[in-house]
Amino acid sequence: MIPMLDIKRELNDIGDEIKKAVDSSINSTMFILGPNVKKFEEEAAKYLGCKYAVGVASGTDALHLALKAIGIKEGDEVITTPFTFIATAEAIVYCGAKPVFVDVEEDTFNIDVRQIESKINDKTKAILPVHLFGNPANMDEILALAKKYNLKVVEDCAQSFGATYKGKQTGNIGDAGCFSFFPSKNLGCYGDGGLVTTNNDEIYKTLIALRNHGSYTRYYHEVIGFNSRLDDIQAAILSVKLKHIDRFNQERRNVAKLYQKYMGDIVKYQKETDNATNVYHQFTVVAEKRDEIMKSLSSSEIASAVYYPVPLHLQKAFGNLNYKKGDLPVAEYLAEKVISFPINPYLEDEEVLVIANTVKAVL
Ligand SMILES: *Cc1c(COP(=O)(O)O)cnc(C)c1O
Repeated sequence: MIPMLDIKRELNDIGDEIKKAVDSSINSTMFILGPNVKKFEEEAAKYLGCKYAVGVASGTDALHLALKAIGIKEGDEVITTPFTFIATAEAIVYCGAKPVFVDVEEDTFNIDVRQIESKINDKTKAILPVHLFGNPANMDEILALAKKYNLKVVEDCAQSFGATYKGKQTGNIGDAGCFSFFPSKNLGCYGDGGLVTTNNDEIYKTLIALRNHGSYTRYYHEVIGFNSRLDDIQAAILSVKLKHIDRFNQERRNVAKLYQKYMGDIVKYQKETDNATNVYHQFTVVAEKRDEIMKSLSSSEIASAVYYPVPLHLQKAFGNLNYKKGDLPVAEYLAEKVISFPINPYLEDEEVLVIANTVKAVL
């Protein structure tokens, strides 16, 4: 069996280090906002090159709290992509605001910046790009639009830890960056976890209160906040994995290159954004006969997945926004054609070859 991600092999590699870190967190007996959270926040901020990093309970919460911290409220509109995980747009709705979907580029799979301007109006307050599958969005163009219309930019970096754009880490480009450490992410912990990054003192201060019941001093509450803290045990695990993230991301890039070498031009690949490095959280291609490929892989005990089969504007949950089929044709096309193959730092050349040959045999 070749799985999408391989935590068993990860444990063979760094399991001893992880278990030692978990043990030390437990022995500290400070489980909520304990020493490992502070340590990981400092290490992550240093790695990403930003002033602040705030640990929160999940990537979804990172987005929600970041949007709140930049001032998104009832009646506002936030521009985002329909070709992403639902949490991106859920976070906008949690703030009482309305997600406005802009179609994506067929090659990079990211928001098509040329289509953003026509969607900006008096209610628009922010742009929320996603660095999908680890491939950075066109941030310079997004920042230029944001500047022109006085909008905030929040990056969804749930799939892009360690990816760079023009030499800068994703999450250190907009007003805030939101990371998820869900176990399957390219930097994942062993439960739920998330992080918000920012270089802005005010946003940082607000985040510190929002994640902890609106409080800076215990039992004194400045605003209504949330219970959304990164767990100390998870933070201890993340400190271990952060030490290896460059190696992990490089291995992913190597696997992606091998896939391309073995499959040639029988499928279309996600284009790496110019002057950026994709960390390949997922390896996703556009392919004919997707269902047949999946069936064939499955009968060879090879996992595959479709990220994502329904674009957000056509999800039942967003029915009240009144989008219809045909409104965002590129996202709809990709939803019908994409397939993701196993990718993780431990996938062996021989396994990539077997997968590629199975795909080739179908096409
Ligand atoms: C995983 C993910 C999230 C949500 O993260 P959780 O930690 O699962 O809450 C948000 N956006 C994107 C693009 C994701 O892939």
